[in-house]
Amino acid sequence: MHSTNPALKGKSLFYLLKTAAIYRACQSEFFLRHGESMTNKSYKILGKTITNAFVERTGGLIFTSGPTIETLMKDMDRLYKEDGIGSVANFVMEGIEDDDIAKFDGARDYLIETMRVSKNDDPSVRKYFQMAIKLTGLGHMDMFEHFNKSQTLLLDGLFKKYSITEHQDVQELLFDAENPSPRPILTRNGIKSFLAEHNIDYTEQELDEFIELAKFEDSEFGKDEIGEIEFYHNIHSHYVFSEDHNTSLLRKICNSAYGGSEDKEKREAIKRCVDRTVKILEVADRLNVIVNVDAEQTYIQKTLDSLTRQMQTKFHRDREAFIMNGYQSYLKATPEHIKLEIERCRRADIAFGLKIVRGAYMNEERRLASKRNYESPIWETIEDTHESYNLNIKNCMNNLDPIKDKILVASHNVDSCNIAKALMKQNNLDSSSVCFGQLKGFSDSLTYSLKDQGYNVIKYLPYGPTNYLIPYLLRRGHESKEVMREHLFLDDISDEIRARLHLRKKPRPA
Ligand SMILES: Cc1cc2nc3c(=O)[nH]c(=O)nc-3n(C[C@H](O)[C@H](O)[C@H](O)COP(=O)(O)OP(=O)(O)OC[C@H]3O[C@@H](n4cnc5c(N)ncnc54)[C@H](O)[C@@H]3O)c2cc1C
Repeated sequence: MHSTNPALKGKSLFYLLKTAAIYRACQSEFFLRHGESMTNKSYKILGKTITNAFVERTGGLIFTSGPTIETLMKDMDRLYKEDGIGSVANFVMEGIEDDDIAKFDGARDYLIETMRVSKNDDPSVRKYFQMAIKLTGLGHMDMFEHFNKSQTLLLDGLFKKYSITEHQDVQELLFDAENPSPRPILTRNGIKSFLAEHNIDYTEQELDEFIELAKFEDSEFGKDEIGEIEFYHNIHSHYVFSEDHNTSLLRKICNSAYGGSEDKEKREAIKRCVDRTVKILEVADRLNVIVNVDAEQTYIQKTLDSLTRQMQTKFHRDREAFIMNGYQSYLKATPEHIKLEIERCRRADIAFGLKIVRGAYMNEERRLASKRNYESPIWETIEDTHESYNLNIKNCMNNLDPIKDKILVASHNVDSCNIAKALMKQNNLDSSSVCFGQLKGFSDSLTYSLKDQGYNVIKYLPYGPTNYLIPYLLRRGHESKEVMREHLFLDDISDEIRARLHLRKKPRPA
């Protein structure tokens, strides 16, 4: 008897029975509500070894690749050799509040070790291996939040607020040649108004240096004008690769966001975080590993973006993209942000790498916006988010250079994947520049059907110590309970089991 669901093809009856039982248990309200306290009790009564072994053999088996690099490699190889599906090693790290240097250094070493083991120091080994990194696993939340304030002041408080679109001689119209709309520019007078608003004293020479820093060497704008793309590309609250960029006026502006003075500890902490990230990327560059950077909460995301943009600027020169930055389509600002990013990469002559997701922190974002009394950054309806997601992949694909740019369509949504497939066809793009991705244990039907149609498809494989994986598993359990298609997948498994046992198919609700 053959399954109609491509994800179930070739799976043994024992595997199907076990999977169905685990899916059902994972979706039980009682289990999801009390999972964490049950695990803690079990640690006390049965001990860590027995409890972890139980988790690893149940939910861990379906949604993760186990606790070690070895278990990850085994799963990765099986997935590719049996099913032709690539993988993203996703070391599970939760955002850490304190500056735990040993923990962050440990995470850096573990990610590097994962690449080394997977590649055996040879870039041609395991071409199906990619990696995920979460920057808040390499530096603490408080630090990212701190630098987010100054980055927001620079981008929103200065550029957005004081730039103008009128009276400009040069228009940056790189993005959409058919529907050009001029990008704003910031003038010397605009910066002066900003400095006055924030009571920042300066000399004319400091202002000259700041303007020079913000401009491209071959800027097409006037002496006292800065275009949006050059400002976005050149102005960062923390420069990564050159101390020369820390002009005194830039420092004064950033310090005004923190209430006046620089926090030396945080500056040291971000330097360490940058060093860790650079070390990881150097190995990824040498071993030819694609690195997918997680998108996180908006109150830290501007810092994460700024860091990742600088890394891409350094590493993507004369090379195809391998650092994929995450963009969340549930944010109202994302369509414009993606356009700016694509134009920036074109203007700076580097490859762009984007991972497009819907976004995983919706409830937290809405709660924070309502508590702190600002407009929610999230689209009001799910339909708006769907529309935004589809527009974002369209804007990427219509502007993608197949020689060097890459996008990851990271979604379980069948309609979005169908739209992506049509856009690939329209734009003559193949699997070398467009990849589809789903999480392990989610939407296997979609993953296997994409693979059967010849698309490049990867699964995110979470791995790491079992006690780190438990909160991840509970979050995923909640998510899969909410999404109808996961229930349908469970129905498919049940039908397949019944067919194999020659039992009558259970009627499904209309
Ligand atoms: C490979 C991969 C990598 C990922 N990486 C990241 C990452 O780096 N950062 C990150 O934040 N997330 C990441 N995610 C998770 C992702 O953001 C989504 O939470 C998840 O994939 C569900 O979205 P979907 O595109 O699969 O489609 P669907 O399941 O169709 O999306 C539906 C979900 O969208 C959400 N939603 C979004 N906007 C709204 C709205 N306005 N109103 C109501 N509901 C809304 C709801 O939770 C709903 O359940 C990743 C997902 C995948 C598959």
